[in-house]
Amino acid sequence: MEDCIFCKIANGEIPTEYVYEDELVAAFNDISPVAPVHILIVPKAHISSALELDDSNKDVVGHIFTVASKLARDKGFAENGFRLVNNCGRDGGQTVQHLHFHLLAGRNLEWPPG
Ligand code: 5GP
Ligand code: ZN
Repeated sequence: MEDCIFCKIANGEIPTEYVYEDELVAAFNDISPVAPVHILIVPKAHISSALELDDSNKDVVGHIFTVASKLARDKGFAENGFRLVNNCGRDGGQTVQHLHFHLLAGRNLEWPPG
């Protein structure tokens, strides 16, 4: 989608160092990390938010969870744990209108969120 920053990152239009990539998703470090590990995992196809998921595109979400688990094992934080979170809409705190999951790790994350 034109003028979507995560489309441009995920499709290589904006050069970005990926921590993981395959045909469905790209993962890269958040520009403004809130934890020692803060990776964004995004589908390459433009999906505006979780509200746009349906039977035709839902499989990418399961794939993103398996990619997160792989990264956790490969990067050594599987044992200590992590959080995989999606913000949806205004009250959810979504600021980029392209579906993405935050993979957070490396410190004790608080709950409930602010
Ligand atoms: P949201 O608030 O929509 O859940 O998360 C958007 C995230 O994208 C934020 O954590 C923000 O720091 C990150 N972000 C916004 N623009 C860029 C960018 O151009 N590059 C990277 N790597 N992260 C970005
Ligand atoms: Zn997009």
